[in-house]
This record gives sequence, C-alpha cells and structure tokens, in this order.
Amino acid sequence: AAQVRGADIRAFLLAFREKLAAQEAHLTALDAAIGDADHGSGMLRGANAVVAALPADGSPGALLKSAAMSFISKTGGASGPLYGTALLRAAAALPDQPQVTRPELQSALHAAYAGLVERGKAAPGDKTMLDAWKPALDALDAGKTWREAAGAAAQGAEATLPLVARKGRASYLGERSVGHLDPGAASSALLWAALADTLSG
Ligand code: ADP
Ligand code: MG
Ligand code: MG
Repeated sequence: AAQVRGADIRAFLLAFREKLAAQEAHLTALDAAIGDADHGSGMLRGANAVVAALPADGSPGALLKSAAMSFISKTGGASGPLYGTALLRAAAALPDQPQVTRPELQSALHAAYAGLVERGKAAPGDKTMLDAWKPALDALDAGKTWREAAGAAAQGAEATLPLVARKGRASYLGERSVGHLDPGAASSALLWAALADTLSG
C-alpha cells in the first residue's frame, strides 16, 4: 500500500522482535568478541517489552512513541538510549495522522538517524550502528526500494569487519576490534530487514 498505517508499524515492530529472537545468540556472540556479550539479550528484552506494551491500534507516530518508551526502559546499555532516541525522533517527525506516506516515513528515518548521531556523537566508519543506517538511508535517497535499502544496511554491517571501533565499549580494544563485526550494526540491519518485510509486501 502507498500509505503506511499503524498496523504496518505494528507489523514492523513484531517482525523486528522475531528477527532479534532468531539472531539473539549471534548478536551476543558478536558482542562477546568486542564488547560485554549482552547485545542479543538486551535487544530482545527491549523488543519483547515493546511488543507487550504496544497499543492495539493508534497512529504510526503513537505506536513508535510507545515502542521508544518501552525500549528505553528495558534495554539498557549503549543501545537502549540510542535505539530509543531513534524511535522517539521518528515518532516526533511523523505527522499526527492515522496514515502517513512512504516519503514521510523516509524523512522520519532521517530524523531517527540525526538522533543517533546527536546522542552517540559517532560518524560513519566508527564501527557502530551508523554503518548500517547510513547506507540504507542513502539507498532510499537514491530512489532504491526498501528491500534494496535493507540489503545496503546488511552490506554496511558486513563492512564493519575491518574497521577500528572508535565509539562505545569496542573502542577500548582499539586495533584489536579489527576483524569482528559490530553488533549494533548487525541488529540495525535486522531493523531495516523488518522494515523491508513490512513495506515491500
Ligand atoms: P553496551 O556496549 O553498553 O553493552 P550494547 O552491547 O547493547 O551496549 O550495544 C553495543 C552497540 O552500540 C555497538 O555495537 C554499537 O553499534 C553501538 N554503539 C555504541 N556506542 C555508540 C555510539 N556512540 N554511537 C552509535 N552507536 C554506538
Ligand atoms: Mg554490550
Ligand atoms: Mg552492556
């Protein structure tokens, strides 16, 4: 559908939770290598809370706001406030309407990204979640599909392998972070895959 409704945002959040549940051990293994081995469990705890508290209906903005609050309260670590900020900024950027357009959702995702940058003070190339988000947004801006954007996010996450971490816990390892994928970039690729699953049907 051309319009994005509350039900689509609900489906996106459920799909994201499913992917996090399926990849929990993988995300935790990535974080065990260059962090503290809690990214999979933390993200899944947050996403479970999001789904448990999600109102049965509401506007896209209202659902994203609810998700942000649940996520922030349960996830913890670096990723809780970062994803929470992203969801909250996206919610605030959307028109307060029962349905929004895809371009409006796209600009809300830009607002989410701006929130990530403001909160985390990282840049693309620092081996963080931004390395998945930025190529996905660039793909949408170039007129590519949501599925292609999700592919760009996945490639961006893979491309964190040779990078030196410059932010977060992994940065304490310096050069020893090279040769490992960034966990937050990997979970962000799941978020973009969940968006594509919901919007390219
Ligand atoms: P913690 O490191 O507190 O245990 P998580 O393991 O949940 O938090 O999340 C780690 C992820 O958070 C990293 O893989 C990285 O993608 C992301 N991250 C950490 N610091 C920043 C930052 N300053 N900006 C953007 N993303 C960051
Ligand atoms: Mg961690
Ligand atoms: Mg931690």
